[in-house]
Amino acid sequence: MEEKLNKILEDGKKEISNSKDEQALLKLKSIYIGKDSEITKIMKNMKELSIEEKKIVGSLTNKIKNELEKCIKAKIGELSSNVISKKTFDHTLPVTDSKGSLSPVTIVANEVADVLKKMGFIIVSGPEMEDEYRNFEALNVSKDHPARDMQDTYWTDEAKVLRTHTSPVQVRSMEKYGAPLRIAAPGRCFRNEDLDASHENTFFQVEGMVIDKEVSISNLIYVMKNILKEIYKSDVEVRLRPGFFPFVEPGFELDIKCLICNGNGCSRCKNSGWIELCPCGMIHPEVLRMSGIDNTVYSGFAFGIGLTRMAMMKYKINDIRMLNSGDIRSLKQFGIE
Ligand SMILES: [Zn+2]
Repeated sequence: MEEKLNKILEDGKKEISNSKDEQALLKLKSIYIGKDSEITKIMKNMKELSIEEKKIVGSLTNKIKNELEKCIKAKIGELSSNVISKKTFDHTLPVTDSKGSLSPVTIVANEVADVLKKMGFIIVSGPEMEDEYRNFEALNVSKDHPARDMQDTYWTDEAKVLRTHTSPVQVRSMEKYGAPLRIAAPGRCFRNEDLDASHENTFFQVEGMVIDKEVSISNLIYVMKNILKEIYKSDVEVRLRPGFFPFVEPGFELDIKCLICNGNGCSRCKNSGWIELCPCGMIHPEVLRMSGIDNTVYSGFAFGIGLTRMAMMKYKINDIRMLNSGDIRSLKQFGIE
């Protein structure tokens, strides 16, 4: 009997190790340890054996059953890991997964950077966690200015700020390069907003700055119109309204005619036909002075375009939260992928 059982174990192991797929293994499992298997029959007939034999055969059949089961499990694991590693390394397999694409904001940011580079701007970047001085003071935002409010600004325990705009990069560039200067800084900014269709706590801007002798507002308007024309592939109607920002004097709000309703009024433009796109203006002489630029010789203009807003206009996205959702279906929806 013992011999018979050992033969079953030996044969079983051999067949299991030669198996090529999971289906064959499951069949072997049923043949060797299933309810019609030789082993099951032996176990059923144990009552006819002597007590001594029962002990030996009982423990041996259990051992063989467990061993064969273990071998089958191990072989299934081995076969499936082969399948996975073949999949991973077989470069000839066709690509079936979605390839993905750049986000609408990145596409627009790259386009704006390209236009600016053509106009002689250099693209610079800076840290997203800024010191208080460069985010506020150096931009003429005084200690009691509401922009510093805890409601709008994320502060760290070390009194650092998650930059509320990309303007600190302008400060860093003035400090580093001096004048004349022509830079643009695209990047991510943070404000503690209540989220809704047009407000997010994370958004993207591109700031531009030109400092030279005899720079005027007409230079500013020319640059802005040029950017918009390239991005929207048509002449976009713009208007300037006076606006107060501590770092510019005079300061303006630049609006573009709503591209969703073509100026007729819709929910996106709050029925005004115009969308506020960017604050801009002539750089405040104090801002130049604080960063070491002689404001009796040099003047300049600066603008901060909301890239997030621009992407929403371009791709006709009416809920800002889609942009940070990470849902790849949104790309398909905007016709990007
Ligand atoms: Zn509209």
